[in-house]
Amino acid sequence: MNRPILASIHTEAFQHNLNRVRELAPESKIWAVIKSRAYGHTFEAALNGLASTDGFALLNMQNAARLREQGWQGRILLLEGLFHEDELALAEKLSCDLVVHCEAQVEWLEKYSSHKPFNVFLKMNTGMNRLGFKPDAYRTAFHRLHAIGCKMHHMTHFANADQVDRLPTVGSQVELFDDAIKGLDAPTSLANSAAILWHRNALGDWVRPGIMLYGASPTGLYSDIKNAHLRAVMQLQSEIIDIQELQKGDRVGYGGRFEAPEAMRIGIVACGYADGYPRHAKDGTPVWVDDGNKGEGVICPIAGRVSMDMLSVDLRNAPNANIGSVVELWGDRVAVDDVAQMSDTIGYELLCALAPRVPVIVK
Ligand SMILES: *Cc1c(COP(=O)(O)O)cnc(C)c1O
Repeated sequence: MNRPILASIHTEAFQHNLNRVRELAPESKIWAVIKSRAYGHTFEAALNGLASTDGFALLNMQNAARLREQGWQGRILLLEGLFHEDELALAEKLSCDLVVHCEAQVEWLEKYSSHKPFNVFLKMNTGMNRLGFKPDAYRTAFHRLHAIGCKMHHMTHFANADQVDRLPTVGSQVELFDDAIKGLDAPTSLANSAAILWHRNALGDWVRPGIMLYGASPTGLYSDIKNAHLRAVMQLQSEIIDIQELQKGDRVGYGGRFEAPEAMRIGIVACGYADGYPRHAKDGTPVWVDDGNKGEGVICPIAGRVSMDMLSVDLRNAPNANIGSVVELWGDRVAVDDVAQMSDTIGYELLCALAPRVPVIVK
């Protein structure tokens, strides 16, 4: 028997979440964002579950090549464009759409004699100050690329679509954007997941959902998507591999962080930070434990520091749990965002950090 940890990727949940994006943005085409191994879910699983998307958006040419090898014939967008000039030929061969966000990338395209025109998503910096051209430089870049035959699209990215009253606001970014593209006729791309959920006046012709396709929250708080009809795609599960009977005052694990307030049982779970479970998870972080009660199970709190290969749970809620009992670290019983919140991070980070040593199965 293998070590019992396993990540299951639910194809149906992917399809459900993609349909949900279609409902929320019925007029838009969809770039399914699958950077970072599809937020930890693996490219193969994403390709399976999200096959009805209009295109996939990712970062690396190697991964674009992988999608083509697997038979994907639809569009592929390189979200940060080319990193080096010498990637142009391969980008053309793989028919990648390119984000263009800086002067150097414009020059590379001008020097290159392509056989067919590139689809370009020209990126405007409307206040996030990460990638892109400021509005004036944007218009110049647009004209230059248009002049060499590129098929142009306008693109920007929101800094605060998941927050109210933070600067820059979605409204201010949209205003700058609309102003700067006046008279430059081309399709647009604006919205990430947060904008698709909460700013449906700011979608554009191509939306770019990431996190919502995986069923987690753009804000990092599960309560914010509780009513958004999204489903968790990844279920991370393992098993209890040992039980410790504690006396009042006994301590658990490195640093002895948890102290038993009474006689109690602790379950040792085969999952640790080397699997991608956050080491900073506080006592009280929820874990679902199958206690043999017709699969309904109960939520038990983590007790003691997470170690490299194991973590420990307080089994006072699960008197029937034993060695071999299945636990869910996150999935549809324990929101990944709830685990993240107890570790001062967001679901995005935990999903992306799923370790390569964890076997993944696509269901
Ligand atoms: C990652 C990314 C997205 C997706 O963001 P989510 O918050 O996961 O929906 C969209 N657009 C760009 C440019 C990105 O880098």
